[in-house]
Amino acid sequence: MIAFEKALKLVISSAKPVLTEQVTLLYALNRVLAEDIFSDIDMPPFNKSAMDGFACRQEDLKNDLGIIDEIPAGTIPSKIISRNQCARIMTGAMVPEGADFVIMKEYIDEIAPNQIHCNKEIFKTNICYTGEDVKAGALVIKKGEIISPSMVAILASVGCSDPLVFKIPTVAIISTGNELVEPNEIPGISKIRNSNSYQLAAQTQQLGVRPDYLGIVRDDEESLENVLAMALEKYDVTIISGGVSVGDFDFVPKILNQQNVNIKVHGMDVRPGKHLLFGQRANHFIFGMPGNPVSSFVQFEVLVRPFLFALMGRTKVESLLHLPIEEDYLRKKGDQLIFVPVTLTSNGTVLPLEYHGSAHIHAYIHAQAIMEIPKSISFIKKGEIVSVRPL
Ligand code: AMP
Ligand code: MG
Repeated sequence: MIAFEKALKLVISSAKPVLTEQVTLLYALNRVLAEDIFSDIDMPPFNKSAMDGFACRQEDLKNDLGIIDEIPAGTIPSKIISRNQCARIMTGAMVPEGADFVIMKEYIDEIAPNQIHCNKEIFKTNICYTGEDVKAGALVIKKGEIISPSMVAILASVGCSDPLVFKIPTVAIISTGNELVEPNEIPGISKIRNSNSYQLAAQTQQLGVRPDYLGIVRDDEESLENVLAMALEKYDVTIISGGVSVGDFDFVPKILNQQNVNIKVHGMDVRPGKHLLFGQRANHFIFGMPGNPVSSFVQFEVLVRPFLFALMGRTKVESLLHLPIEEDYLRKKGDQLIFVPVTLTSNGTVLPLEYHGSAHIHAYIHAQAIMEIPKSISFIKKGEIVSVRPL
């Protein structure tokens, strides 16, 4: 039995992202960048008008101005603006030589054909200057960042049409248990429906990974041996639920030992999820999730999720929120690290939900976060700060 924090370190340090691929920018959202991105150009690349209006010299702003040119976006101005002259200019067009101000169209009077006068005092130049956003050669996005919609725009504007990203791992999901039937079946006496496989598949998909589901395996050594041998060969990560605790039919640890899996974690001082197992064989990893639905849900969030993110090259760790608790909290029993379902109120406080233990997955339906209560703490007074992990 080891401390949860130690298990988490062991698990995360085992994840070494190696494989990369290029993806088209159109479908790069949420992928993790495997390269630093530098700008190949200044942004903006030329002095650009921020408004539809008239480009002129600042010193002529109070004078009548003669229009000598028209500059649509995407064209090169052909005339130089000199004393008491201006050019009609569109948003995004290049500011002509000689001009250092753009008067908004809304602020002029047409006093004669091709003659305007500015009717307002203006202070802003309405020019976006060459390189003021980004200089050519500058690092714009770092390796390890998750590509967001605004990053997609940056990648496009610096000419990165096929960014190099970390490969998404292949993941297999298995459930074990003689008591399990699939959701479309009516459970006979002493049977229950398999909810873990679908819950784990959903949690995996939230990370942008599409898992394969390998079905329910009965609690017999041969069936388990066959499916685990295959999964460990074929998938980067196998997530198996049930069969990892200390019951007479909990064969998963024994079989993994036989298959030369290095079991790095088996048993943590935490609730729920005490019996979690984590093992590695070469570049293949396996998580044995405790069968109780809350245990497998919570341990996925706190352990498997950061592992999969690390395997996908995410360098930023998701941080906990530290917020005041809405009411007194008394821990009923035990002195281990525990995870508790909570909601977050509109006042920014943490409200624990009614929770009956690791089979009570309904408690999590409306949970917005998981509160962590450290080992030594058994009572928390209203208003004290607690740590929560948003869901
Ligand atoms: P185990 O970890 O196999 O000892 O299972 C612990 C508890 O979780 C038992 O009450 C099981 O019936 C339940 N359980 C195991 N696997 C699943 C599953 N796939 N879906 C829902 N409950 C399960
Ligand atoms: Mg079982």
